[in-house]
Amino acid sequence: MQHRHLLSNEIDLLLDGEAGFGVAPLRAHVDACADCRARLDEARLVADALERLPHLAPRTGFADRVLRRVQIVEPWHVAALNSVRRFVPDSRPLRAVALATVGLTSVAISASAVWIALSASLTVGSATVATGRLQAAFVAGIQQGLEAVLGASAAQALQAGGPVAMVAAGVALLAAVGAAAFGFRALASASRQRGS
Ligand SMILES: [Zn+2]
Repeated sequence: MQHRHLLSNEIDLLLDGEAGFGVAPLRAHVDACADCRARLDEARLVADALERLPHLAPRTGFADRVLRRVQIVEPWHVAALNSVRRFVPDSRPLRAVALATVGLTSVAISASAVWIALSASLTVGSATVATGRLQAAFVAGIQQGLEAVLGASAAQALQAGGPVAMVAAGVALLAAVGAAAFGFRALASASRQRGS
């Protein structure tokens, strides 16, 4: 017989009907000790009562509904990185296309800003001759590009829409061509890597 009373984990072992190497002395102690026998009986009562309770299953989606209400504090840089990552495609060629599109879009925005600045300085009337020539050359270049790609009639139609429409079309065309070229190159290098 053991010289001390049982610990609660030892009571649990007896409750679970464990039959391991260390259980026999515990059982011997319970047989000899009224205190521990009483504790074991009590624990058995509680276990039986718990077993008889109706088994409730949460409705489907319970965990999701709870977690939706839990506010998880996320450092701003982690949140920013995650939201950027959500927009980045997984495959390498698509990633290259996305990168090219972002790059060309920023070029397009810069070009538009330059255009607006030139227009503004024209209306103000300072340095009109120089900026006017620059602007005319810019428009003529875009017009030639559009004619080469879309044909003369489409370019004329755009020209009728005004210089802003032409610049917008030219920049969009540039972005599309650049993205396509970038994407094809990435596709080619990816397939080459797969082949080797
Ligand atoms: Zn005891």
